[in-house]
Parts: sequence; structure tokens; C-alpha cells
Amino acid sequence: MTSPDSEERSGANPLPSPGPATAVIHHGESYASETGAVMAPVFTSSTFAHGNAAGFDYTRSGNPNFRILEDVLARLEASHHATVFASGVSAMTAVLSSLRQGDLVLCEENLYGCTVRLLEQVFARFGVRSAWLDFTTPQWMETLDELGAHQQPALIWLESPTNPLLKVIDLKAVCAWARAAGVPVLVDNTFATPLLQRPLALGATLSLASTTKYVNGHSDALGGVVCCDDPIWYERLRFAQKALGLQPSPFDSWLITRGVKTLPLRLDRQCANAAVLADDLADHPAVAWVRYPFRADHPQSAVARKQMRLGGAMITASLRANEAESYAFCKGLCYFTMAESLGGVESLICHPATMTHASVDARTREHLGIDAGLVRFSVGAEGCHDLLADIRTCLDRLR
Ligand SMILES: *Cc1c(COP(=O)(O)O)cnc(C)c1O
Repeated sequence: MTSPDSEERSGANPLPSPGPATAVIHHGESYASETGAVMAPVFTSSTFAHGNAAGFDYTRSGNPNFRILEDVLARLEASHHATVFASGVSAMTAVLSSLRQGDLVLCEENLYGCTVRLLEQVFARFGVRSAWLDFTTPQWMETLDELGAHQQPALIWLESPTNPLLKVIDLKAVCAWARAAGVPVLVDNTFATPLLQRPLALGATLSLASTTKYVNGHSDALGGVVCCDDPIWYERLRFAQKALGLQPSPFDSWLITRGVKTLPLRLDRQCANAAVLADDLADHPAVAWVRYPFRADHPQSAVARKQMRLGGAMITASLRANEAESYAFCKGLCYFTMAESLGGVESLICHPATMTHASVDARTREHLGIDAGLVRFSVGAEGCHDLLADIRTCLDRLR
């Protein structure tokens, strides 16, 4: 990349491509070369003088803070392009808005709730159809062949690990099927981040994330991103960013650019904490079962170990408790705030039956495997011993 900054640094040694822990910190262009500022400022300007060298015109279609963040996120993903949006839902809207009436999207049945709502309650009204299937059953390929026999799907939409059951989909296998069939694949990579799993390298066309979660990591900004190598998809995403007004705020982009600098540090710590907590939970008599992608009792642990660098920092467990007792367990924890969202340095706990899935009817909940005792931990970066003691105390109370 040539930029005023890289010209200034031309006296320095040429270095090979940096690894992720360096790339998130040294992002090159800061658009502040005259001042020597180490951190780029927040460019609140809504508009830019016509004909400027960097090619900005109006913030809805581009801003220095977006470009800095896009550059970092593209490097993390090792993708040609990244386009940032106001939230994960904005990023999903951008992708879906590029479809046409009558198009079919084949979806993993355990997608994030807001993705389901966007497809079924918004894009369905514009004639975009969706079909749902379990990509972890051995018959997924036949089901895809059957569904694809009537109509060439426009897109396959995956998420791995899924929410809240942490199902793991064999991304390489699905992408290979899709490539042969000429169908693009989107992977919602929010739970794993490109540091644990790189969907594009596994064959996906689009890698999407809510940067609100791990990428920012401090629960203080909303954002979304879509990474891709394909110039046609990149054009569509840039078009959606400006044409639908899906752009983030410069300040949120600045916060996320700051947050991502510590993503490698945070994620390693949070994953290490989660691996310990998952094993400890599984040993407790008040816990019926635990789901954690790298545990041997996870149904897809072999796939998880093949495509993920670490098991992630989310744990789902089923308590031997009714709804009220499970709720009281969540409320009783000292370091896990009972809240939606995930991925921050602070630990959170969610009780899907009374929170995220409260509006889902009982039969669908049962089909999805969401029982009254199900709890989902977003493990933070606190001291592992403190988190362990907190959970044990509240589990002991359950017995
Ligand atoms: C949170 C989340 C989203 C939506 O992102 P927002 O930034 O809240 O709009 C999408 N997918 C997954 C997996 C998420 O966890």
C-alpha cells in the first residue's frame, strides 16, 4: 500500500507481511501524517473537498476512520476487501439487499435470531425466500441437492459455531459442495473471529461479523463487516453501504479500531478461561451437559479442531434445574452480568428461555434444544480463579 505514511517510513527496513498480532496494531495509513499523531483522530467531517488526493467525498460512502478499520479487518481476514457497516445487522442487510425477488437463500436452521427475523419478517416481504436445514446431519448434501434441484439457490448462509448451541458446521465441506454448484456461501464468523477461523480460506465467498462482539471487545460500540476477495461482491457491498445508508459512525469505527488492537491478546485469554470453565462445569453434578467446541464430548469436536485454532470463549450448559432456578443461578453470579450480547472482556451470562428465545414458541424451542436449564456463558478476560469460584458457588447452591 502506498500512502503518505509509508513514504515517510521509506527509510525503515522493508519487512515481510506482519502476523495478526502486529497487523492489528500497525495499520499503516493514519491520514494524520503532518502531525505525527500515533493514533488517528476521529474524522467527524460529513463531507470532503472535491478532488482530494485520498478520494473521499461524503461520509456515507467513505471516511478515513472507515478506511483504517477496513484495512485492519481485511488484513486479519487475509482478504482483498472489507466493508464496514453500522452493525452486524446492517452488514447482513447489505448482503441481502443485493438479492432479487424470487431468490432462494439456503440457511443453517440454527442462525442468530436477528438473522432469522431479517429474512422472515423483512426480506420475505420483498420476495426473497429462505429454506432452513441442519448442516450437521449426515444427509445435508442430499437435502441441498433436493432443494437445489427445483431452483439454483442464490446464497448459502452459515454460522459456526452457532448461537446458542455452539453447533459446528464443516465449512470446507459445505463450501466445496457450493463451489461445484456455483452457489456463493456466506459465513457469519462473529463467534470465532478471523483469529480462530478464516472462512474465505475454507472456501466461503463472504465472511461476515458483528464487530460489536469480539472484534471491538469492550461492549461500547456497534459495528459490522463483510470481507471478500470477489470484486463484484465488493462493489455490491460498497454500493449498499452508501445507497442504503448502512455506514457506521466515524467514532464507532475509531473505537473498534482501538478495540481490535488487543483482539489477539483478549481472545487467547478468554479462550483459555473458557476451556478451563467448560471442563469444570462438566464435572459438577448440577450440570446435565456442557457444549464447548474443543471438548471431546462435543458432537462436532473433530470438525472444530480441524477448522478452528482454539475452541472459542462461549460455553453453553444445561443445568439440572427448572426455569426459575436457572434464572436465579444467572442472577446470583457475581462476575457474569445477565445480559444479551457477547464477546467483551467482561463475562456475561444469558438464559435463552427467558431472554433471547422468550418469544419463540415452546415447540420450536424444544426442536432447537433450548430447555429451561440452558445457560450460555460469554467468558471474559477476568482472572480464571475468580470466574471458577463464582460459578462453583452458585452451582453448589442449586443442589
Ligand atoms: C450480535 C450478532 C449479530 C448482529 O450484530 P449487531 O452488531 O448486534 O447488529 C449477528 N450475528 C451474530 C452471530 C451475532 O452474535
